[in-house]
Amino acid sequence: MSEGKQLKHYDIAIVGAGVIGSALALQLSRSGYAVALIDALEEAFPATNPERVIALSEGSAQFLQSLGVWESILGLGAGWIKDIYVCEPGQPAVVDMSHTEINAEALGYVLEIRHVLKPLHDALVGHVDFICPARVSQIHKQESHVQITLDSASGLQHLQVGLLVGADGTNSQIRNLAKMTTLGWDHNRLGIVASVASSQGHGDVAYECFREEGPLALLPLADGRFSLVWSVAPKHGVQLMDMSETEFLSALADEVGESVIKRIGSLERSSPRAVFPLELRIAKSFAQNGIVLVGNAAHTIHPIAGQGMNLGLRDVMVLADVLSKPRAKDKLNSPLLTDAYAERRRLDTAAVATFTEGTLHAFSSPLLPTKWLRGVGLSVTQSTPALKQILLQQASGLGQQQRMQR
Ligand SMILES: Cc1cc2nc3c(=O)[nH]c(=O)nc-3n(C[C@H](O)[C@H](O)[C@H](O)COP(=O)(O)OP(=O)(O)OC[C@H]3O[C@@H](n4cnc5c(N)ncnc54)[C@H](O)[C@@H]3O)c2cc1C
Repeated sequence: MSEGKQLKHYDIAIVGAGVIGSALALQLSRSGYAVALIDALEEAFPATNPERVIALSEGSAQFLQSLGVWESILGLGAGWIKDIYVCEPGQPAVVDMSHTEINAEALGYVLEIRHVLKPLHDALVGHVDFICPARVSQIHKQESHVQITLDSASGLQHLQVGLLVGADGTNSQIRNLAKMTTLGWDHNRLGIVASVASSQGHGDVAYECFREEGPLALLPLADGRFSLVWSVAPKHGVQLMDMSETEFLSALADEVGESVIKRIGSLERSSPRAVFPLELRIAKSFAQNGIVLVGNAAHTIHPIAGQGMNLGLRDVMVLADVLSKPRAKDKLNSPLLTDAYAERRRLDTAAVATFTEGTLHAFSSPLLPTKWLRGVGLSVTQSTPALKQILLQQASGLGQQQRMQR
């Protein structure tokens, strides 16, 4: 220790105070752990236009309810997904899924990320040491603990922790410092995001349109508008970003097709647009000598099925469960614990990534036989109750939840 303040001890340091890191910090502090939560930004996810929006499944909502923050999150505004309408523009077959088919209040909820974060951060006050803005500049793995050096506004700080958790998103610095490698690929697609108003509003329905270039989702926002996520080739993305509002809305109406416009009415207004690169990136291992990865640091998937944050919240549930076992506190960096977490997350992550990638590729083929099969697939799904039940359980996150409890 060359410079800076004296060494501080924590059971667990979590780097990244997004939804995943913050939910984990809350759960672990309630289990009696001394937790430091570190973020590079003073305010993670400030207000933006368009809003950074996510769809959370009923399963994730139940977990946030168990943390005691769900009512406050709903109080800040939520869109309810009661039905999901899946179509391929220009083709007659559709799948129409309703919350009534699984006796749930909703299939999911559409929320601004900052509205999920605020109640989590409020609940953490007085229970967790929040260190921000700060970045980890060095990690030294010792036999019984990890020593980390933080570069913060007040200079260098040194922490000694039993377990270091990387919850610092897709480009995780913790993953890089620990030399944990990833596999995956760039989708060569951009995600265009905006909020859009239509003349008839959404009626609590989410629309998922599959196109050869990539999927397009319209999610119902609390104020009656839609949150748009539109996956496009880079060249098309640049054109869409350069368009006037009128040109953009007209291009969007053409893309979603007549069957959707008939249901939602004409497109009337759009917020400014934002753009995100889309990629698949999964860490080869989620655990290594006193370090574990959660959320996007462990796995970044295409947002097509709105599953990234839901998957991350299931990481939180499993890691918190592993760390709640008797005497876990005495052996926080034992491979027995960290490997148990990694092992339990492998299947769910692989299943969601495979489903997402499979759906993307099935709908990106322009070949006629594949198109015909897609049409048959949508018709069969719509008319086969057992198949629809499986899709409904997946969309609501209740299927994954049940598997975890077994
Ligand atoms: C366009 C789009 C739409 C999406 N829609 C959905 C959806 O509908 N449903 C869904 O479930 N998921 C969706 N996702 C995925 C979802 O947004 C992510 O899975 C989720 O935000 C991951 O949360 P996280 O906390 O792991 O990471 P992040 O949200 O990225 O948070 C990481 C945190 O770490 C901090 N940080 C970063 N680097 C450092 C560092 N070096 N040091 C310290 N702190 C650092 C950041 O400031 C931030 O606070 C979507 C993603 C995109 C791109």
